[in-house]
Parts: sequence; C-alpha cells; structure tokens
Amino acid sequence: MNSSIVNTNYDLLPGSYLFSTIAQKIKEYQGAHADADIIRLGIGDVTTPLIPEVIKAMHNAVDEMAVKGTFRGYGPEQGYDFVREAIVRGEYTARGIEMDPNDIFVSDGSKCDVANIQELFTENVNIAIPDPVYPVYLDSNVMAGRAGVLQDDGRFSKVTYLASTAENNFQPDLPKNPVQLIYLCSPNNPTGTVLSRETLQKFVNYANENGALILFDGAYNCYIQDESLPHSIFEIPGARTCAIEFRSFSKTAGFTGVRCAYTVIPHELSKLHAMWNRRQCTKFNGVSYVTQRAAEAIYSPVGWQQTKEVIAGYMRTAGVIRKELTAAGYTVFGGEHAPYIWWKIPDGEKSFDFFDRLLATCEVVGTPGSGFGPCGEGYFRLTAFGDYERTCEALKRIREKL
Ligand SMILES: *Cc1c(COP(=O)(O)O)cnc(C)c1O
Repeated sequence: MNSSIVNTNYDLLPGSYLFSTIAQKIKEYQGAHADADIIRLGIGDVTTPLIPEVIKAMHNAVDEMAVKGTFRGYGPEQGYDFVREAIVRGEYTARGIEMDPNDIFVSDGSKCDVANIQELFTENVNIAIPDPVYPVYLDSNVMAGRAGVLQDDGRFSKVTYLASTAENNFQPDLPKNPVQLIYLCSPNNPTGTVLSRETLQKFVNYANENGALILFDGAYNCYIQDESLPHSIFEIPGARTCAIEFRSFSKTAGFTGVRCAYTVIPHELSKLHAMWNRRQCTKFNGVSYVTQRAAEAIYSPVGWQQTKEVIAGYMRTAGVIRKELTAAGYTVFGGEHAPYIWWKIPDGEKSFDFFDRLLATCEVVGTPGSGFGPCGEGYFRLTAFGDYERTCEALKRIREKL
C-alpha cells in the first residue's frame, strides 16, 4: 500500500492514549515488585453489577427473541419508541423539560456520538474545548484535521481552550476569538465540578448571538445531588436553538459493557436533526433490542430506585475520598455531584511525577491531571468507582505514607 493514501492527521496525535501510558507504568511497577498490592483509583469504569430490574428485562427480551411471534430483527435506527418515550419521561418530563421523543437518537455509546457528530460540520469550523476535559473531543478533532498542530505549550494551534481552574471556580469564560462549535461537559470529567446555571446561560446566549452550536456532554448528570443545579442544557432558556446533548447509560446504570446512550437534537435545529437522522440511517443499524429493553427498565419505579442506590454507593465512596484528603490537609474539588475527585497536588510537582510517587509510596493508582489538558497540570484525578473498602485502605496509606 502507498503510504500517501492514509490520513496523516493521525500523526498529529500526541503519543499514545493517556490510559495506555498509565497501564504501561503499572505493568512495569508490577514487574519490579512481585508482591505489589496495588489499589486502582484511576479507573473511569463502573464496577457495580447491573441492577436486578435490568437483568430481568434482559432475560425477558432474550426469551422474546427465542419465539417466532416476538422475535425482532433490525429495529429503527433512531431507537425503539418504548425507550425514547421512557427517556423523555424519566429524564426530561420529570425535571419539567419539554422534549419530543423524536428528538432522541438512541445509540451504542456517547464516545462514538461525540466523535461522529463532527461529520455534520465543515472541516474549517473553529472549535472550543474545556481544559481539562475528557480527551475524546480533542483527539477526534485532531483526527479530522480541525485542531491544527501541537505547539510547545501543549496546545493545538487552531483550538480555543476554555480554561476551567480553581481560579475561575471551574466556570470557564466565553471564548475570546470566534468559534462555531463549543464542547461543554457537566458534571465534568475529570474535575467532577458542575457548570452553574449562570455559566450555561452565558454560553447559550453567546451561541445564539454568534450562530454557534454547543455540544453538551451530560454523561454524569445522574450523579448531581443538588436538584437545583442544571442537569441538562435544555433547562436553559434558548438552548433548543443552539445545543445538542449527549447522554449515556454507561455511568448512569453501569452500561459500559452493555452499550447504550442517546443524543438529543431538538427539532428546532431542523437541518442538523435531518442530517443526523440521515447519518444514522446510513451508517448505524441500531442498538440491540435486548439492550434497549434493559435501558427502558431503569425508568420503572423499582428500576429507578435501584439505579439511585448504585449511584448513592459510588457517591458514598466519593464522600470518603473528599473527607480523608481534606483531613490530610489537601485541597480537593468535585466528588459532590460526580464520581471524580480533583486533587490539588503540592505546588511545583508535575502530575506525572506525582503519579510515580503515589504508586511507589502507597501503591495507589490515579490519573495525572495533565493528561486531560494543560490546565490539568498540578492536579490528580481519583475516581469513586472502586471498591469501598479498598478505597478506604488506599486513603489510609495516603494519610500514613505520602
Ligand atoms: C464515560 C464517558 C462517556 C460515556 O461514553 P460511552 O461511550 O457512552 O460509554 C461520555 N462522556 C464522558 C465525559 C465520559 O466520561
């Protein structure tokens, strides 16, 4: 094959994916310390099994697939009506947000949706990305040739970074230069902080005034404990003419291995709605029937109760991390409305050096903040997805040894 046929934008990506670099470091440590007892607080993956209501729904759906009269083949590319209606009822109507089931596009994941949505836009559109944030927005734009080149300061030349730091209370300012696509993630991965109603209104107003579009990732909305905080961009007046929302069952209901998510494109954005519909019909053949029945099941009264209990379990772990680190004299953010704790590390220490020190002294693993963007330097992400007892043990080691 002639190498000139490949997409050279891939060569612009910095090194390997953050988590493979970390996995390599852990492997090396284990290689050198055969008796290592490592506690992983770096995982961005759920660990609690699926709730009984979901399992029951999946078993029932499997049985339906075994019988001629109820067997299902290809379903609608946009998702079955039963799940789109359940999502509207459980997620939007319940919070007083009007939503049309036809605006919900069910998919097999938000990671692919947030990356695939770029197909609807021209190559030279200017993008704004929070810093720090989930690396998928940036990397997928680099692959598409929209980010420019990586500069010495760790930033891509054509990307507008929306700094989210302790200094601005994790509420980014509006972009200073013109952008047409704005990614927002709230509650944020990795900082665990939530964008306020005022911040979201500011961005919605900016988008409407400047003809920009907000791509709002709400993967962690179910972790918000304070009902007065915005759970959805569509709680903000004016959002329906300037925002798309991405939601996932991955963190909400432990579906990281089951795979189900949805993207909301309001019909007010009629062109984008039609384009995404066309895109999905052409390139996607729907989520499995069994999986969609599983997703529907979390919205039954019992299913919702069980779902909330699992989330409460993770939030209990998050609370312990916050409490123990604070008691040890550290400054921490997040962990109140998200399963992530954003730990301020000692001044001057690099977050990758801190990773090595934490592993060597405590055999505890987390994620260096700089892996999520230049503004993540000086911070470290711990997650509340791990086992409760093991997390307590990790914090004991941190208090005693670090
Ligand atoms: C985990 C996560 C997702 C979910 O991705 P899926 O593909 O649905 O599993 C989306 N956005 C963020 C910020 C996440 O952390």
